[in-house]
Amino acid sequence: MPRRTAATLATSGEVLDLIRTGEAVTRADLGRVTGLSRPAVSLRVGELLERGLVVERTDAPSTGGRPPVRLEFNAAGGVVLVAALGASRTRVAVCDLGGVELEGREFVIDVEQGPDVVLPLLMDTWDELMEGRPGVPVKGVGMGVPATVEFAAGRTESARVMASWTGVVIPPLIRERFPVPVFVDNDVNVLAIGEHRGAYAEETGDLMFVKVSTRIGAGVIAGGEILRGALGAAGEIGHIPVRDGGGVLCRCGNVDCVDSVASGTALLRDLRAAGRDVKTIPDVTALVRAGDAETMAMVREAGRRIGEVLAGAVNILNPAVVVLGGDVAEAFGPLVSSIREVVYRRSTALATRRLRIETSRLGAAAGISGCAVMVLDHVLSPDAVDETLTNRVTRQ
Ligand SMILES: [Zn+2]
Repeated sequence: MPRRTAATLATSGEVLDLIRTGEAVTRADLGRVTGLSRPAVSLRVGELLERGLVVERTDAPSTGGRPPVRLEFNAAGGVVLVAALGASRTRVAVCDLGGVELEGREFVIDVEQGPDVVLPLLMDTWDELMEGRPGVPVKGVGMGVPATVEFAAGRTESARVMASWTGVVIPPLIRERFPVPVFVDNDVNVLAIGEHRGAYAEETGDLMFVKVSTRIGAGVIAGGEILRGALGAAGEIGHIPVRDGGGVLCRCGNVDCVDSVASGTALLRDLRAAGRDVKTIPDVTALVRAGDAETMAMVREAGRRIGEVLAGAVNILNPAVVVLGGDVAEAFGPLVSSIREVVYRRSTALATRRLRIETSRLGAAAGISGCAVMVLDHVLSPDAVDETLTNRVTRQ
């Protein structure tokens, strides 16, 4: 946040931001950091206290003298409603304003049943979860969906995955019951946001999260922010073609996309074609664990294909860390080592000099926290907070 001078006075929203990030925790700190006068600091803090966004704590007195009153962001001052939708598993939860899950439920539902079935289920579940929290304000809703999303509109795009959702603009449907800001992004971006904020934010602002599951996709954090591109399609690495893929037709209509030759779905298809009785990813995991040679070879080959595409992405983005998540990446050691080998061999020396390639630290939990962070970064931003205070005196 830019430091303000007396000429451009810090607003209440900016004061909240300083308290929330821990940059200023007393009124004296706030005065020093913002250059605001004592009465001006008091006015803004008073507003934030009244809105329940901030609470005061007094430390135990030490050796005489009055201890300074510390200001803390009040994570209990409201909640956000979140849902991480997967192709087959969906988690619905309520989080506090610190992004911590307070309560949640997990469902095994086929999202292909469409928004008419899935959205009411989510909203009913949020209502249920809010029953025990009367009077607690809902500040926003965040959802991750397994489809490409035009972020600003919250419109799902993919024509072949989640076909029944194509073109659906989700936020207004949610706002009919929950009249708050609603944010929708694709599942991989949400995982990238959650993994970065929860496990890597202190170390780096440049991270690429790659999900290898039934599908392959990536979410890119650049300079600490999610990179969405012009409309929200950034990071869709699944439909980058590999060399010598053998002419496999992808469901997107192109040929030899990495998704069509190296995803969990592709592994299942190829193993079945080789006469193996595998129905689910865990069936493949069992073969890998048993050291089945043919399965291991296929998994390594898939890893090389993914590595080929990632090597290009690493050259373009120069991330500090590539995080491999999703049930396939998390369960298949040989896949991860093949990806590593190819990326280190084929990316440029400078891009890989400090590059780490690791499996996800948070696993599926990153989905829920990522949804919460996506909402909180918006609704607690200085502009949004000031907006809610517009009818009051915010500048003095
Ligand atoms: Zn494709």
